[in-house]
Amino acid sequence: MDSMLSQGVGSESCERSSNAQVSTSDAHKVDGKNPSEVIHWHNRGVAARALHLSRGVEKPSGRVTYIVVLEGLCRFNIEELNTRGPYCTAKISPLEMTKSGYFLISIFYLLTCSEMEQVEQDPDFVTLSRQFKAIAMELISILEQKQKTGGRIKVLLETLPFHKLADIFVASFEISFEEQLCMLDSVDPKVRLSKATELVDRHLQSIRVAEKITQKVEGQLSKSQKEYLLRQQMRAIKEELGDNDDDEDDLASLERKMQNAGMPSNIWKHAQRELRRLKKMQPQQPGYNSSRVYLDLLADLPWQKASEEQEMDLKAAKDHLDCDHYGLVKIKQRIFEYLAVRKLKPDARGPVLCFVGPPGVGKTSLASSIAAALGRKFIRISLGGVKDEADIRGHRRTYIGSMPGRLIDGLKRVGVCNPVMLLDEIDKTGSDVRGDPASALLEVLDPEQNKSFNDHYLNVPFDLSKVIFVATANRMQPIPPPLLDRMEVIELPGYTAEEKLRIAMQHLIPRVLDQHGLSSAFLQIPEDMVKLVIQRYTREAGVRNLERNLAALARAAAVRVAEREQAVSVSKDVHKITSPLLDNRLAEGAEMEMEVIPIGVNNHEISNAFRIASPLVVDEAMLEKILGPPRFDDREAADRVATPGVSVGLVWTAFGGEVQFVEATSVVGNGELHLTGQLGDVIKESAQIALTWVRARVADLKLAAAEETDLLQGKDIHIHFPAGAVPKDGPSAGVTLVTALVSLFSQKNVRADTAMTGEMTLRGLVLPVGGVKDKVLAAHCYGIKRVILPERNLKDLVEVPAAVLSSLEILVAKRMEDVLEHAFDGGCPWRQHQHSKL
Ligand code: ADP
Repeated sequence: MDSMLSQGVGSESCERSSNAQVSTSDAHKVDGKNPSEVIHWHNRGVAARALHLSRGVEKPSGRVTYIVVLEGLCRFNIEELNTRGPYCTAKISPLEMTKSGYFLISIFYLLTCSEMEQVEQDPDFVTLSRQFKAIAMELISILEQKQKTGGRIKVLLETLPFHKLADIFVASFEISFEEQLCMLDSVDPKVRLSKATELVDRHLQSIRVAEKITQKVEGQLSKSQKEYLLRQQMRAIKEELGDNDDDEDDLASLERKMQNAGMPSNIWKHAQRELRRLKKMQPQQPGYNSSRVYLDLLADLPWQKASEEQEMDLKAAKDHLDCDHYGLVKIKQRIFEYLAVRKLKPDARGPVLCFVGPPGVGKTSLASSIAAALGRKFIRISLGGVKDEADIRGHRRTYIGSMPGRLIDGLKRVGVCNPVMLLDEIDKTGSDVRGDPASALLEVLDPEQNKSFNDHYLNVPFDLSKVIFVATANRMQPIPPPLLDRMEVIELPGYTAEEKLRIAMQHLIPRVLDQHGLSSAFLQIPEDMVKLVIQRYTREAGVRNLERNLAALARAAAVRVAEREQAVSVSKDVHKITSPLLDNRLAEGAEMEMEVIPIGVNNHEISNAFRIASPLVVDEAMLEKILGPPRFDDREAADRVATPGVSVGLVWTAFGGEVQFVEATSVVGNGELHLTGQLGDVIKESAQIALTWVRARVADLKLAAAEETDLLQGKDIHIHFPAGAVPKDGPSAGVTLVTALVSLFSQKNVRADTAMTGEMTLRGLVLPVGGVKDKVLAAHCYGIKRVILPERNLKDLVEVPAAVLSSLEILVAKRMEDVLEHAFDGGCPWRQHQHSKL
């Protein structure tokens, strides 16, 4: 026998003896004490014969271990335990297939053979042993495959009796101590066999599960190995084909790019760390791509690369500004001062210029002129509609689809660290739950902080101090005060019609012609026609729509020129066939040069081709044909004010000043006031104030018959602000509202040539308002001849061009009565009353 079962003498020694080798030095230790006190004896055991005793290695503590190899003989029952003396003695009775008795085990062994034969014939035992054998065979064959050690056990299976085999099998794998004792207690061969079958089966199952898991792991391993192999092959094929565009080269080129990026040392270390991480990744691995894109950004950013700043020629810069922009004298002077300071102190942290004005007045083009004057690159970053702080600062890289903010992205695009960066429409940023972009801009524009601007995506500081920031806005009011504080506001008012004409003649027409491949040899737009375009087709503070309309004219001309070009090429072909005929015509001097000039679509060639053809001159009919019927005319105000209850106001919007009509009417009702036209709270309150003021002065203004004390008796008043879809707010419509109501109740028309603006108090005082310059320009543009302004706004008129002022009659108002006096033909009804009394 190879192994033996436990002696079954005590819990400690039993655990150790579950293996064939037992340490005897520990057993001695137990011997020194009273065994009955320490050990609980099991009432069954195994008689064994010592086969071998060997001395083990001496431990550092000086203890020596001995190894005893025992051969189990048979189970026994403890009849009587004697605990006296240094070790225990017991009276035992052998248990294998016999009744009780004191036998020498070897004798017992011989004696039990005949009984065994009886058991073996028992049909239950036969079935059990067959079952056991089948499972045991299965276990052996598995072990055989794995360890190639099954051969010897197989022999045992054939030779040994089954009840012995059961013991051997169960002892060969690990089971709990309780189960071992249970096996020891199974004296009946049938019980033992069935128990052993159960244990062997369990062991078999656990081996199978373990095998399945290993197979799975092995499968995965081999898959990745296969991938690796294929990749190697692919690389070899690519190398063979000379196709070097594989990942490794890619990463090598990325590394080269990173080395040339001129990153500061700490950022270079950070980038290298990231690159090392990337190199360890498989391209299919999640995160590979984002890491790659990130490193690309780091490599592309202009850490050091800057446009070379040449010695600035102030005279040339001034000429450049003058040449690009008509008028704007004060603004150009301020820019010139800014440039002069930069020349004297190139690293000066001058103020951030912020151009404020309606669209199309040249804010962007002024900023790009600054860049040109400084010899720097220009980049425009649009902030209109930016509500998310991440748009400025970028998203953290932990987010899917994260990207850098607009500033860092802009710098990557422009490729230098010292561009002129235009923060366009800075007044259009808003804040919501996603943070406040304006506060991020504060950091950007602060020269103390922007040295180490922290973009969340970039996650390393970037120096923005070399960037020259210029901002634009339509209105100053929405810009948060702290941000406004960091900038120097330069206001650009709208242009007068005369200025627009000059801009069109000197700048827009040449540019538009050039953009369309034309020249004045093809298209001529006379001044008168430009004036008509300004008056009839545009009504704006800037020149953007004017430019658009001129472009429409140029497009139409381009079509004609292209058509003629086709006609010429046809006539050239004709000439080849019928030259004698054309020779005659040539003699007559007709279209001579058409024969000799080269034909092409190229601008230059076309211009040569049509040298003698007369240019297209725009006239009124052509204007209507191309631009459509006039969109605005001077009669509009007169038409709209033709009925009582309508007055003309002047308002100020993001697009500059505008003329705003106010319409009031009364209907049968309960004295309610209805307001329409997308009005804000302030303007609604103004309407309430206006109505109250008018009602309080019914008698003074002679608005109702003497017996009628309440104007609203049985009436509802409805006030509407046309362009109903455009939101409106602000206090400056007060005087216009009163005028409309007085007009309604007195049934007298307001003068169509008069526009007004001013806030009104409940007591009728007229308060000053903002945006006077723009409002006056808008009135002029609209063809208004008289403008009523609050007295305290007179000082603002200095900003209005003299040409505009001379074409307008400015009327001042201190009180509401003054406004009414000016607004109605023949003066205010109340004043009439007074006069008649006098
Ligand atoms: P903004 O930025 O104020 O909306 P832009 O700078 O885009 O306006 O100007 C619109 C167009 O009008 C541009 O083509 C610009 O060159 C032209 N422009 C505006 N003002 C002038 C001016 N004073 N002189 C010449 N061109 C001008």
